[in-house]
Amino acid sequence: MYKKYFDAHFHWFDHSAFSDRLSSNIGDLDTKEYFLETYGRYGMTGGIMMGNGEIEKQGDSLPDGFYYCVGLDQIACTDDIREALPAIEKHLQREKCVGVKLYPGYVPLYPHDECYVEVLELLLKYNKTLAVHTGMLAALSGKLKYAHPIHLDDIAVDYPELRIVMCHFGNPFLAEAAAVMEHNRNVYADLSGLLEGLFVTEHFVKTEELYISNLKTWIRYIGEPERFLFGTDWPAVKCDEYVKFIASLFDEKEIEQVLRYNAYQAYNIKYDTRTCVNDQ
Ligand SMILES: [Zn+2]
Repeated sequence: MYKKYFDAHFHWFDHSAFSDRLSSNIGDLDTKEYFLETYGRYGMTGGIMMGNGEIEKQGDSLPDGFYYCVGLDQIACTDDIREALPAIEKHLQREKCVGVKLYPGYVPLYPHDECYVEVLELLLKYNKTLAVHTGMLAALSGKLKYAHPIHLDDIAVDYPELRIVMCHFGNPFLAEAAAVMEHNRNVYADLSGLLEGLFVTEHFVKTEELYISNLKTWIRYIGEPERFLFGTDWPAVKCDEYVKFIASLFDEKEIEQVLRYNAYQAYNIKYDTRTCVNDQ
């Protein structure tokens, strides 16, 4: 069994109404301490927290082996972004900050909107990664059109040196997500958030055979498993069960790479066993 993993996409909301609902759905507590203790025991070696909320407060007190993307989910217009630039740059100067996360759909802006140009330039300046929410939104509010994976093509073509992580592989726009990845070698996909709530992998793989086969088809279509990262989107799912689910999508020889190492490449993190908790 493939127990060790690096979780390249999770959240610490610390008791918002939304996250309390998600975590109570899976029987977990919505706290950082619970997450680190429970999944550290299971085999999590480290991970990347996707930031939410006030920019200044993001990314503090992360343990060894853990990193973050500064999240722009509260910023929805050009003036706000301009105002936030100095704070964003300060984050990007920290080693623990490995990128910026955009939330199109949750905010009414396309990821290639001109207002993000200076953010993209900062990412290039500090050699950090752009992570972008793509695909289905967690709530009925917001507009899906902004979150369509096709919009990453504009950025990927215009900024070929920029590493881009397409969060959730654009699910369920899988064919379009795969087309964008095929067209742009600087685009990676994280496989977080494909499911939500409690599930048992063995049962799910049988009952949702068509969905699984669709997912596998588009992952195979790319033909480069090194461009897929493991992430959970915790507290959306129980991480240990999600490891089994993602492992079921790959060939035996690819699984360890996807679960543990691809994220280091995509987020330009120096792999060092001394900084990875529970790593051996
Ligand atoms: Zn997420």
